[in-house]
Amino acid sequence: MTIQFLGAAREVTGSKHLITTESGKRIMLDCGMYQGKGMETDAANRDLGCDAASVDFVVLTHAHIDHSGLIPYLWKNGFRGEVFCTSATRDLCDLMLRDTAYIQAQDVRWYNKKMDRLHKPKIQPLYDENHVANAMRHFVPVPYNYRFRIADDIFLTFTNSGHMLGSAVASLEIQEQGEWKRIAYTGDIGRLQSHILCSPQPFPQCDYLICESTYGNRLHEDRLVSEQQLLGIVNETCVYKHGKLLIPSFSVGRTQEIVYVLNNMYNDGSLPRIPVYVDSPLSFNATQVFRRYTDELNEAVQDTMRYDDDPFGFNTLHYITDINESKRLNHSDEPCIIISASGMLEAGRIKHHVANHISDPACTILIVGYCTPESLGARIQDPSRQWISIFGFDHKIKAHITKIEGFSGHGDWHEMIDYLTRSVDVKQVKRTFIVHGEAAAQDEYRDHLYMAGFRNIDAPTRGTSVYL
Ligand SMILES: [Zn+2]
Repeated sequence: MTIQFLGAAREVTGSKHLITTESGKRIMLDCGMYQGKGMETDAANRDLGCDAASVDFVVLTHAHIDHSGLIPYLWKNGFRGEVFCTSATRDLCDLMLRDTAYIQAQDVRWYNKKMDRLHKPKIQPLYDENHVANAMRHFVPVPYNYRFRIADDIFLTFTNSGHMLGSAVASLEIQEQGEWKRIAYTGDIGRLQSHILCSPQPFPQCDYLICESTYGNRLHEDRLVSEQQLLGIVNETCVYKHGKLLIPSFSVGRTQEIVYVLNNMYNDGSLPRIPVYVDSPLSFNATQVFRRYTDELNEAVQDTMRYDDDPFGFNTLHYITDINESKRLNHSDEPCIIISASGMLEAGRIKHHVANHISDPACTILIVGYCTPESLGARIQDPSRQWISIFGFDHKIKAHITKIEGFSGHGDWHEMIDYLTRSVDVKQVKRTFIVHGEAAAQDEYRDHLYMAGFRNIDAPTRGTSVYL
């Protein structure tokens, strides 16, 4: 068989790897979108790197758009096979892919207006809501830890990777010329101890490992430290300064994790009695999916649910879906917490909240996730910067800007190596491919893998094809 690395190769976005077996079957491991600002990544997304109609199956590790976002585009270009994933991943994809189609329509409308003025050709979105609906019909849910025959000579097993609700390591067994070849693709690996997710579960032995490397050169803070930091910031901002605490957060995963931590603080009486707003329709809908799958969340959540049947809701928490209600928040001067998307401050309602409050010294903007260097979320963190432009207006930065790293959905290098060595006997792994990481993170991670006993480690560039 051959495996071709079509994305997330020496980079952290656009996960897409294509296996072609000797019998001619083609399996795509994830089908992720390149995510970036506006239309910058459009060309990379339009080039799938293969003939969509020739792909027999997609094996999807989790719902994040950088892993799932091009499935409707694959359908639009002729793919008619099955998409295998867990049931929670399917439900989250249904929301997230429709949301992505909506965002694309807005981006393209803005871009085409500009092109019109310049008398340049207009473009079409990669896909629309109809393509999403059609693609969703091909999703086939597969439970965790079930050895599922996807073809006569191919088995698939999903193991919980603890990275987000429904996330999995995909283990494939493929028979060629009487020999079984075992491939494990980690997708994204979660933290050893998450606030709400189960720890990554050991996956079956493999001969070939394809492993993520996002934080291949980083170590994270402890989970409990991050909870204490959050409570400290809430008290400092909302109680002592009577200000608003703004938390830009991804709608799916990070938001539910923060809400759950605040829910526990509410239950134990440590959360001040101030309103908490989750201002994002996608966050609300995604929370409904989390409520449906609470049995897949960790022991701590199960314990909480013995006395609190909704770990994502408490009396002072309000989910806002209506845009007018969101706008009203800007005119209120009560101390409160506002959690809203997007996490990097590139778009969404949070950008309006930040524009309205960044010049208020009583307010705090708390970053809880990764921000790409050019994003607004990263630029406001630059301590040398006094002014920032948002929606074309300059704002003096007077609010307190701070960061908590412990809410990351990715394990650090130590957690990843621990997970891999708990799962497999490294001596039996013939080759290891590291994907989904910036070059610097991958180069250091390769050393950590080597120290742990892995050999024949490659970090393939985009388009590289390897015969196994
Ligand atoms: Zn992910």
